[in-house]
Amino acid sequence: MSTPSGIAALKHLDLDGHDLPPSPAPSSPSNGRKYALATELVYTDSGDQYNASSVPIYQSATFKGGPGQEYDYTRSGNPTRTALERHMAKIMNANRALVVSSGMGACDVITRILKPGDEVVTGDDLYGGTNRLLTYLKTHGGITVKHVDTTKLDIVKAALSAKTTMVLLETPTNPLIKIVDISGISSAAHEASPECIVAVDNTMMSPYLQNPLDLGADVTYESGTKYLSGHHDLMAGIIGINRAELGERFYFMINSTGCGLAPFDSWLLLRGVKTLAVRMEKQQTNAMAIANFLESRGFKVRYPGLKSHSQYALHDSQARGAGAVLSFETGSVALSERIVESTKLFGISVSFGCVNSLISMPCRMSHASIDPATRKERSLPEDIIRLCVGIEDLTDLVDDLSQALVRAGAVRLTGDSFVALDAEDVEGQTGRTTQVVDEP
Ligand SMILES: *Cc1c(COP(=O)(O)O)cnc(C)c1O
Repeated sequence: MSTPSGIAALKHLDLDGHDLPPSPAPSSPSNGRKYALATELVYTDSGDQYNASSVPIYQSATFKGGPGQEYDYTRSGNPTRTALERHMAKIMNANRALVVSSGMGACDVITRILKPGDEVVTGDDLYGGTNRLLTYLKTHGGITVKHVDTTKLDIVKAALSAKTTMVLLETPTNPLIKIVDISGISSAAHEASPECIVAVDNTMMSPYLQNPLDLGADVTYESGTKYLSGHHDLMAGIIGINRAELGERFYFMINSTGCGLAPFDSWLLLRGVKTLAVRMEKQQTNAMAIANFLESRGFKVRYPGLKSHSQYALHDSQARGAGAVLSFETGSVALSERIVESTKLFGISVSFGCVNSLISMPCRMSHASIDPATRKERSLPEDIIRLCVGIEDLTDLVDDLSQALVRAGAVRLTGDSFVALDAEDVEGQTGRTTQVVDEP
């Protein structure tokens, strides 16, 4: 792609020597200010030959021509995928973004640079799929994996050494909503071992609310299946990096294994991410109100937007919002089951980040593959209910939840207000059944 010489000063080459869209160019000329994220999300300059408003889908495996041309084979590169990668790099405050077929695909690409004998320090409350992959690498790849309580900086520091090759973090965790100090751990890891790669799973926050690279991490990655897409209609994984050499190593893996995101899914994600700001704002506002509603009814609620969260200040210092996932405990597994089965708007489903509100019991669903003893060890309450709040009307959501609480016997309606009952008080009745679903 050629760049008119007039804007040469704004030219921003990526590591392959491709021109990035002149971002944040159009916002710069008058006052040098960068566009706000909500604007960057919808602003794209694809450089399309016909100035198409929507980036075209290059549904082609091959591109004709001789050596040296920009695209030849879609496993190695595709114009629709490139458009998405350039757009995402801008959104993630990264020099380079790479998109692959799922969030776990991204985690695989990142951990593939590990060699036998390498040491990974990570959390004890990880996403189930991440835990499964690390366990595989430990068993079959000769990698040492140290699971520690990453909410405690001194415990992480004690686990770090010159041998630490990678630190893999997730914050907030789910469903326990534990917060990890990205900046503190990144500094400590680089101090212990300058070559150490700090990778952060940013799925729960999305780049709209948190930018791990700005906090000192070397790699940020996330499942595009969640907030970035927002509609549960595709699977994708995104990796963001600033260090050129790391980008090259990850690209090598993607080209070698063929996990780059397909053109159609790249297009869908380009479309979905445009509404990230409005979706996240609305979901977060709803989540905050629901967290307050449940807390005021006497439930133990975990949500980083609540002042009662023990790590409220830490989360607030590294993120621009609390997100839209919260969890609460009822004191009884049977009662929780009845609540989950009694909601109508909150659909029973694994995953989160979709425009629809979802409800689940992690111990029965997403975390069912973790054996009960380990769940207990990790203090994962068996009765915990996770809510992933969508963009529906808040009154309808609160109403749905209130009715479920009443039907389940968790609260009693007296006049206009709800009174929390003891868990054992009431027999419930259910219309739906809780599925036992293995970790996807
Ligand atoms: C969903 C999820 C993943 C995996 O993403 P997929 O797109 O489902 O492969 C990784 N980490 C977290 C925190 C997730 O929620």
